[in-house]
Amino acid sequence: MQKIAIVTDFDGTLMEQDVGNILMSELGVDAEPEVVEVSGLYREKKIGSLAWIETAYPMLAYKKREVDEILARVQLRDGARDFIAFCKEQSVPVTILSDGMLYYIQQILTQQHIEVERIIGNPITYLEDGQFQFGVQNENTACKWCGCCKASVVKQLKEEGWKIIYIGDGSSDYYGSGFADWVFARSSLARYLSEEGTAFYPFQTFRDVMDVLVANWNEFVNGSASRRLTGRVPAACKFPV
Ligand SMILES: [Mg+2]
Repeated sequence: MQKIAIVTDFDGTLMEQDVGNILMSELGVDAEPEVVEVSGLYREKKIGSLAWIETAYPMLAYKKREVDEILARVQLRDGARDFIAFCKEQSVPVTILSDGMLYYIQQILTQQHIEVERIIGNPITYLEDGQFQFGVQNENTACKWCGCCKASVVKQLKEEGWKIIYIGDGSSDYYGSGFADWVFARSSLARYLSEEGTAFYPFQTFRDVMDVLVANWNEFVNGSASRRLTGRVPAACKFPV
C-alpha cells in the first residue's frame, strides 16, 4: 500500500493571503502596544509564536462579525482546488497544519467547499453563542516555542510509516518540514532552506506543485523522487525522550 501523505500550511500557502496577519492588521490588533512589543521580540527570535499568540489572539474576542467580514474576501492560492482534487483521486490524505486559528481555517474551507482529511491548528474559535475560546495546539512537553508544534505532527506521521510531501511558506514551516521527505517552499521558508543548503521544490502556485507531482508521481510514491530529505531535524526543535 502506498503510504504517502500531504501536509500543507494554510496561511500564505493554501491561501493566497496570510489570513491571520490580515485579521491582526485590519482589526488594529497589531498596533496595540502589547502586540507591538511581542512582535518585536518575535522578530528577534527572543520569543516563539506561542507567546505571541497568547498576547494577540485574545484581542479578537467580541470581534466575530468583523472577522467574518474579512474571511468573506480572502482567496485560495491559484490551483489549490485542483490540487486537493488530485490528492483525492490518488487517495492521498491531506493534512492542513497551521499555527493560525482553527476558526478561520474551518470557516474558509466551508465557504470554499474544500474538504481534507485532517485540520490541525490552534483551537481558537468562536462558540455557537459567539463566545471566544482560546487554546493552543502544542502538546510537546519538551518545547513550548510554537503555538502549534508542526514538527511533532510530522514526526508522528513519519513514525507511522508515511512518506511526507510538505508544502509551506513561513518560519513555522521551517520546523514543520524538518521530518518531511520532500518540501515545496515559497517565500521565507524557501529562503531559510536555501541558506541552510536544504533541497526543496520552489513554487508560487499549486499549478507549480501539480506540475512536479503529476510528472513524477510514480517516483514520489516509490520514494525515488529527487530532492528527498533524510533526517533534517531543526536544531531548535526538542522532543520528549
Ligand atoms: Mg504560512
